[in-house]
Amino acid sequence: MSDTRTEGQKLEERLLYKRQNIWEKVDEEYIKKAFDFCEDYKSFLNTSKTEREFAANTEKLAVAAGFRKLDDLISSNTRLKPGDKVYHINRKKSAVLAVVGNKPLSEGVNILGSHIDAPRLDLKQNPLYEDTQMAFFKTHYYGGIKKYQWLTIPLAIHGVVVKGDGTTVEIVVGEDEDDPVFSITDLLPHLAREQMQKKMSEAVTGEGLNLLLGSIPFNDEKVKEKVKLNILSILNKRYGIVEEDFQSAELEIVPAQKARDVGFDKSMIGGYGQDDRVCAYPALRALLDIDVPERTAVCLLTDKEEIGSMGNTGAQSNLLEDFLANVIALTEDPYSDLKVRSCLSRSKMLSADVNAAVDPNYESVYEKRNATYLGHGIVLQKYTGARGKYDASDASAEFVGEVRKLFNDNGIIWQTGELGKVDEGGGGTIAQYAANLGIDVLDCGIAVLSMHSPFEITSKIDIYMTYNAYKVFCRI
Ligand code: MN
Ligand code: MN
Repeated sequence: MSDTRTEGQKLEERLLYKRQNIWEKVDEEYIKKAFDFCEDYKSFLNTSKTEREFAANTEKLAVAAGFRKLDDLISSNTRLKPGDKVYHINRKKSAVLAVVGNKPLSEGVNILGSHIDAPRLDLKQNPLYEDTQMAFFKTHYYGGIKKYQWLTIPLAIHGVVVKGDGTTVEIVVGEDEDDPVFSITDLLPHLAREQMQKKMSEAVTGEGLNLLLGSIPFNDEKVKEKVKLNILSILNKRYGIVEEDFQSAELEIVPAQKARDVGFDKSMIGGYGQDDRVCAYPALRALLDIDVPERTAVCLLTDKEEIGSMGNTGAQSNLLEDFLANVIALTEDPYSDLKVRSCLSRSKMLSADVNAAVDPNYESVYEKRNATYLGHGIVLQKYTGARGKYDASDASAEFVGEVRKLFNDNGIIWQTGELGKVDEGGGGTIAQYAANLGIDVLDCGIAVLSMHSPFEITSKIDIYMTYNAYKVFCRI
């Protein structure tokens, strides 16, 4: 067939940058694989609603895939060789995994870094009270939430209570069909005249996020707070806990619903906690599924990103450095601190975190030439930050170029993304903390609608494309 395109059309084809919709570029087989992958992802989401659950499920998958515990390898001084798999769970809330590559670690590793905490409501340490013959838990929200979104939806309680005798009891209520759920009430519209005049940010207060727990009074005339006592009695029978035990508990309130397909075409997934499990899960799976890489491949799953990556489970901790130092000690002889430094400064990382997909209902906050779109591929975000790139992690042109070429050479469909208009807002990821260690880092993840809401929406085809992109990155 002769080429009927005009000179201009040919030039356009050759010169213009075009964003591509993956659905229009892949065949049915690819779509089938994407849907299958997303079934696994939904199951994982449903059982990994907290960082602790994500970490525990990571360990299960890792062990099943032949990964061995770092502490065991250290204590038995087992030497590691290419293809060996190792994992470390840090304080039950963050994790690092590696597949040892053919090259020494001191030549650098390839890291997929993401976070496994998500915005939620935490219980206060003295949470239980009674008012108007109903029992409630006081909460303190964690991360950036729009408070009104947490009213009048079914909520579940997940977490741990460390009891007075030092033993720990795990609690999950609200996930099984037969479980009760919990709720935060809202004012009926009939009486909300004054509330409706308030600014959205002020209409629901932090101290107003109280979780409704029960309403049956304990049957004893002499007791003052009968409903509260009845709840404590139920909790004591079921878990052996007393009120003081809440002081040493971490109980998280999360949406009770399961992840669901969204749309007649089932092209999307709606569910809680997809920031950042929608990147963390493909990153984890990429590591579980690769063969022996050239450079050691690492998956970093951190906690506390939503509140600044602080603490000994966050990305600002020594978790990654310590892990790499230990793996170097098990693979290179003699061990030296210089090898760790050499490893860090020659390592590359994709900071696997989400971006804000353009929402046509709120078009004005996006700059459409530099925004991300659902179904248009993995997002390369050269820099994060806000208002003049403050607090940005800014990848070098060289590293962006390397990743771009890698993706183009391997059929990975990607798009470029900046979070919102200049001066509209912005955000950060764990990228900057890895960059501070000397690692080349690029933010590289998935576009999300309704980010930080109880029901975040993602595209199945983006998820599968991202999984493939992460696998390709592990191979360089
Ligand atoms: Mn995130
Ligand atoms: Mn977030």
